[in-house]
Amino acid sequence: MSITPLMPVYPRCGFRPVRGDHCHLIGEDGSRYLDFAAGIAVNLLGHSHPGLIGAIQKQAETLMHVSNLYGSPQGEHLAQRLVDLTFADTVFFTNSGAEAVECAIKTVRAYHQHEGNDHKFEIITFKNAFHGRTMATISASNQEKMHKGFMPLLPGFKYVDFDDLEGAKAAIGPNTAGFLVEPVQGEGGIRPASQEFMQGLRALADEHDLLLALDEVQCGVARTGTMYAYEQYGIVPDVVASAKGLGGGFPIGACLATEKAARGMVIGTHGSTYGGNPLAMAAAEAVLDAVANDAFLGEVRSKADRLRSRLEQFIGNYPELFESVRGMGLMLGLKLKAEPRGLVAHLRDNHQLLTVAAGDNTLRLVPPLVIDDSHIDEFIEKLSAGAASYLAEPADK
Ligand SMILES: *Cc1c(COP(=O)(O)O)cnc(C)c1O
Repeated sequence: MSITPLMPVYPRCGFRPVRGDHCHLIGEDGSRYLDFAAGIAVNLLGHSHPGLIGAIQKQAETLMHVSNLYGSPQGEHLAQRLVDLTFADTVFFTNSGAEAVECAIKTVRAYHQHEGNDHKFEIITFKNAFHGRTMATISASNQEKMHKGFMPLLPGFKYVDFDDLEGAKAAIGPNTAGFLVEPVQGEGGIRPASQEFMQGLRALADEHDLLLALDEVQCGVARTGTMYAYEQYGIVPDVVASAKGLGGGFPIGACLATEKAARGMVIGTHGSTYGGNPLAMAAAEAVLDAVANDAFLGEVRSKADRLRSRLEQFIGNYPELFESVRGMGLMLGLKLKAEPRGLVAHLRDNHQLLTVAAGDNTLRLVPPLVIDDSHIDEFIEKLSAGAASYLAEPADK
């Protein structure tokens, strides 16, 4: 047999972390890596956060899982908290980002079908988006590399250029149900949408009775310096998919919606065995305890400013390697002149620095939100040394 026991769908590298220590990961041989990948924007509180561990331990001892057939004080409490913190009136809990987006898609379709407008099922999405790996969420993305081998796709999606308001407007037809968009494209290359684009989508949605659904799976939960990124666009969405940072490393997602948008999501229409289980609720409560306050969010913004200005200065030293810095808050990208994977591997293997590649030749930086100045210093040191040694290596590019 040549297939590996772990289904070989990931190009895994040689680094095998066995322990986490705040903003570092420790490998099998005890070596320490500075973690500016954070499980791909997941470990907001870093690793081994006492509050998060304590909450999970305590809940695990009390009650881990019950069915959604029963009342849920834990679910009600977290849902109320998210409602109080956001535009939303109601929340459906999932176990992952893709499921949260899936619920957003169903919510959008159900809204129109509940109104008797069965023909309004088509969702306009944006090129190079990433919404997850289920059949519906790959269908929502135009990226062929995710489609190959899995045809046919789910019908009902139309792809338009990201940040192209005129394109979005032109794509609206009698079957259009809504928009699904990442305010900051993550996998697509850390590309924030413009203010005009997001506000324009809101206006188009209002004008044509469409729902505006945001995929904030990566950019949500304090990552950009506000609880959700939409706040910085001065808009109110109808539906938001959240996940990644929400559990700080514990699997949980959430689909947030207004009362109006959730009209079709009535008893019996949707469900999840594990969604909203008390253990996940406890983890997310601990994350919100830490991040959902002005002091923490202000810290994220000031750390982000410091990191960003260091990066802006730094890339000038290596114009042959770097083109620009982009992103929002602590969701930053270094746009490179070429494909980033070689540099990501080099930084990891030679400088014990973890980053993530993203689309559009971007090196993605999504550190824990609890980094301090010492981590920023360590990061810039490692990146400087790494850029110099990478350029000196003839074979690597
Ligand atoms: C990661 C991600 C998803 C998918 O989340 P999973 O938990 O992997 O299913 C969806 N949308 C965006 C924007 C993401 O970054």
